[in-house]
Amino acid sequence: MYTRLAILVIAFSILSGCVDNSDIFEFEFETMGTVAGGIAYSYPDAGQLVEATFDSVNTTLSSWTDDSELGALNLASVDQKIIISSWLNNCLTVSEEIHRNSGGAFDPTAGPLMRLWGFYRRQGHLPSETEIDSCLALLGGYEHNQNSVTKTHAETKFDFGGIAKGFAVDRAVANLKAEGMKNGLIDLGGNIYCLGSPKDRNYWSVGIKDPLNKNRIVARVEMSNKAIATSGAYERFVEIDGVRYGHIMNPVTGKPATGLLSATVIADSGIIADGLSTALFVLGPEKARELLKNYYQDVEAILIIQDKEKARISVTPGLRGNIELLEEYRDRYLISSFSR
Ligand code: ADP
Ligand code: MG
Repeated sequence: MYTRLAILVIAFSILSGCVDNSDIFEFEFETMGTVAGGIAYSYPDAGQLVEATFDSVNTTLSSWTDDSELGALNLASVDQKIIISSWLNNCLTVSEEIHRNSGGAFDPTAGPLMRLWGFYRRQGHLPSETEIDSCLALLGGYEHNQNSVTKTHAETKFDFGGIAKGFAVDRAVANLKAEGMKNGLIDLGGNIYCLGSPKDRNYWSVGIKDPLNKNRIVARVEMSNKAIATSGAYERFVEIDGVRYGHIMNPVTGKPATGLLSATVIADSGIIADGLSTALFVLGPEKARELLKNYYQDVEAILIIQDKEKARISVTPGLRGNIELLEEYRDRYLISSFSR
C-alpha cells in the first residue's frame, strides 16, 4: 500500500526525527475496494475504530453488492417506497445538492453507465450510441422525500462511489474526535482528513499525485483540520482495444469524462471534497472554475490540465503559498492561480 501513505509518512518521519515517537500509531488495512491507512497520536485503538467505521459505511452504502442497504434499494421495484437510513439520506442529499450545482455533472444514479462500460465486472465494453441512450434514460429515475426513496424506473441504480469514501472519512473523524483524539491523519483511497497537526509542525503536508505517473508526487499542500480528495482517470479504468477509459462518467454524453488530468478539492468535510472533486473532473477546466466561483467560495481546488507543452496546475487563489511544486517537476509543470 505504502506508495500513498509513505508520501505523508516520509515527510513526517524526517521532520520528527528528534521527537519522541512512542505515542504515534500507524495503521493500514484494505476496505471498500481500496487501501486505507492513517497515523494517530496518543490513541492506540484508532486503527480498529477507523476500520470498524469504514466497514459499517461499506455495509450501508456499497454499490458493489446487493447485500448493502444501497444494493437493496437498487433491487427495489418501481413505486415501492423504501425507507432509508440517515447515512443513505445524508449521502443522497449532498449528492443531489452537487448534482444541482454542477448542472448534472455529478449524478448519484450513474450506476447503469458504470455497468454498461464494464466497470462492475472489470471488463471493458465499448457501447453503441443506442446502448448509451437507453442508459441515459435511466438516470435520475427516483423520487426522494425526507427519509424515503421511490424509484420511478426499476433499472435506475444508485452508485455512491463518487461520495461514499469521503462520507466514511467524516464518520471516522467524528468517532476519533469523540474519543478525544486531537492529531492524526486518515487516508481512505486518497480521501484524506488531516486532524490537527504533527507534533513538531503546524500543518500536515499532503502529496498530490502526478496524474501521468501515479507513483510520484507532483506537489505538496499544507493543511490542518481539512479534508482533501482527488479524482482522476488514472487509478481505475478499463482498457478496450488498447485505449484506456476512466471510471468517471459524463452524464451528458454517457461516456467517460476526459477534460482534466485530475481534480483535487480541499474542504471542511470529506463528503464535499469527494463529491465535488468528482464533479469538477466531469466538468473540465472552465466549467469547474465556474462551479467553484458560483457555489463553493469556501473550498480550495487544484485542477491539473494537459496543455500542449506543459501540464498546468491551476489552483484557487487561497492555495497560493500553501502549495509547492516538487523540484523535479519545475520544468514540466506550471502552477497558476485562477480568480473567482
Ligand atoms: P475514486 O472512487 O477513485 O475515489 P471518485 O471519487 O471520483 O474516484 O469517484 C468515482 C466513482 O464515482 C466511480 O467509480 C463511480 O462509482 C462513481 N461515478 C462515476 N461517474 C460519476 C458521476 N458523473 N457522478 C457521480 N458519481 C460518479
Ligand atoms: Mg469523489
